[in-house]
Amino acid sequence: MIKITVPNYNGLKKSDCKIVVLEKPGKKKKAKKKWISKKPSTPYSKAITRLDTVFSKFIRQRDSIGNNCNKCCTCGRIKKNVNRQIHAGHFQKRANMSTRYDEKNVHAQCNKCNTYEGGRDFEFGLYIDKKYGPGTAEKLYITAKVGRKYLRHELDKLTEYYKGKLNE
Ligand SMILES: [Zn+2]
Repeated sequence: MIKITVPNYNGLKKSDCKIVVLEKPGKKKKAKKKWISKKPSTPYSKAITRLDTVFSKFIRQRDSIGNNCNKCCTCGRIKKNVNRQIHAGHFQKRANMSTRYDEKNVHAQCNKCNTYEGGRDFEFGLYIDKKYGPGTAEKLYITAKVGRKYLRHELDKLTEYYKGKLNE
C-alpha cells in the first residue's frame, strides 16, 4: 500500500486535504473470476441445460459446411467449430421459450457476432428470410412474444430426439 497526501494548494485548507490510499501495482494477484449461478439447479433447470447442450450441438452440426467448420449466419466468416468459436445463435433470444428450440430461429453464428455484437438481429432476420422465405423472421418475432412453458417430460423427449439426430 502507498499513501499519498494531496498537497495543500489553490486556497484549500489543510482540513480539506484527503489521504488517498492506492494499491501498489503488480503486487496483488488478480482474483480469478468464478461463474456462480444465482439460482440453485433443479431437476427442471438441469433438463433445460441438457436440452440446450444437445440442441446447440445439433445446430452446429446441421449448419456445418464440412471439415468441422461453420459459416457465421450474420457476418459470413468461416470458423472452426472448436473452442466455442461457433455458437448456436438465437435470432429471438433464448429467454423466449416459444422460439428457443425452433430450428428456424437458431443458426450457427460466430462468437464475435453472438457475444460482442448483440447477435446482429437485423442481419440475422435477413438471413432467415432469405433461407425460409420473406416474413419468416417476423413470424418468429411474433411467436417469441407468446409465452411457452415446457413440461419436464417434453424437455426430455426433445433431448432424446436431438440426441438421435446427432452424428457423433
Ligand atoms: Zn459472425
